[in-house]
Amino acid sequence: MKISELQLQQVNHQIHALVEAGSFYGKKLEEAGITGVSSQEEFEALPFSEKADLRDAYPLGLMTAPEEDIVRIHSSSGTTGLPVIIPYTRKDVDDWATMFARCYEVAGITKKDRIHITPGYGLWTAGIGFQAGAEKLGAMAIPMGPGNTDKQLQMMVDMKSTVLCATSSYALLLAEEIEKRGIKDKIHLKKGVIGSERWGEAMRKRISEELGIELYDIYGLTEIYGPGIGINCEHNTGMHYWDDFLYIEIIDPVTLKPVPDGEPGEIVITTLVKEGAPLIRYRTHDLSRIIPGECPCGRSYPRLDVITGRTDDMMKIKGVNVFPAQIEEVIADTEGASSEYQIRISHLDGRDTMRIYVEATSGMVDFQALGQELTHKIKAKIGFTPIVKVVELGMLPRSEKKSKRVIDERYD
Ligand code: ZN
Repeated sequence: MKISELQLQQVNHQIHALVEAGSFYGKKLEEAGITGVSSQEEFEALPFSEKADLRDAYPLGLMTAPEEDIVRIHSSSGTTGLPVIIPYTRKDVDDWATMFARCYEVAGITKKDRIHITPGYGLWTAGIGFQAGAEKLGAMAIPMGPGNTDKQLQMMVDMKSTVLCATSSYALLLAEEIEKRGIKDKIHLKKGVIGSERWGEAMRKRISEELGIELYDIYGLTEIYGPGIGINCEHNTGMHYWDDFLYIEIIDPVTLKPVPDGEPGEIVITTLVKEGAPLIRYRTHDLSRIIPGECPCGRSYPRLDVITGRTDDMMKIKGVNVFPAQIEEVIADTEGASSEYQIRISHLDGRDTMRIYVEATSGMVDFQALGQELTHKIKAKIGFTPIVKVVELGMLPRSEKKSKRVIDERYD
């Protein structure tokens, strides 16, 4: 995607605000002697920003607007070390809700819908983003937050919720509970808006079929507003993203050079109109590609493909680079294997081993034959032989947050 003249002007405005405020990135840009950009080439020479740097700015080093204009902060959940704090102005909060409402509209959700929100509320951007978007749209928000499955289902039945917002693993858990309790005829759900956790076609199919709903992938990250910066339309040909608020590049994560549209790589995002904490060329470490050409829906917003993984999910095993998405593809293509799996990597007797646990779709499946079939297919894909163990449906942990698919025990 080439950067437009307007977008270049917007980037210059962001650079100017950062430098003026003397914020964390403002100082960096000033030290590098950057005052603005006038072409694609100059833009692509701007330094990247990284999550690790954002932590160095803790607590409020990213603040780029005057403090009296900041109305809220959010924080991304750091698993290690300091969290990242993102300050928002009133305009940022409003822009985010506008983008989110646009997502709901693209998914065909209207003011008449009742939106059941299960992502968490608090410092992170999940629940409140879904809610602000629903209110902006004029729909009825049902702010459940996560957990307490009994209450979730009770409210879903009594309030006649029509839209479910959840992570893919929690949507699956709810689908399984509804099935188990035999209350499907009391559920009024029509659509699901699913957070940008990476999930395969098999899982999508199960949730969609068991709940009888259309599913939409919503994309976003706390550093860049939060969820709601893109969603797929009814044609399901990738996620439209809002290029009036963001400029997105795809780069090769090794050479760090932008790749042509259509080629896979890492998503890098520049905010165009953010005030509280603008970010220039932020490396998301999410892997995807820009889908070239026009969408059959006729919307002119560009499209990102589904997220296929994270650059840091890449596992180096026996000297080979392996992505969980490669394993997932094989599992999705294999009859008798369900969508749920877990990968454990360990180091035994001086050698790396990869064990893969896969749930069978039912007790009628021949576990041993399925295990052998998966072993052969995965070896053909990644170049070495894993240990595959097929287990009963429901054996692997489900989570309300993101499922942990890969457990690396080599460095424990
Ligand atoms: Zn479309």
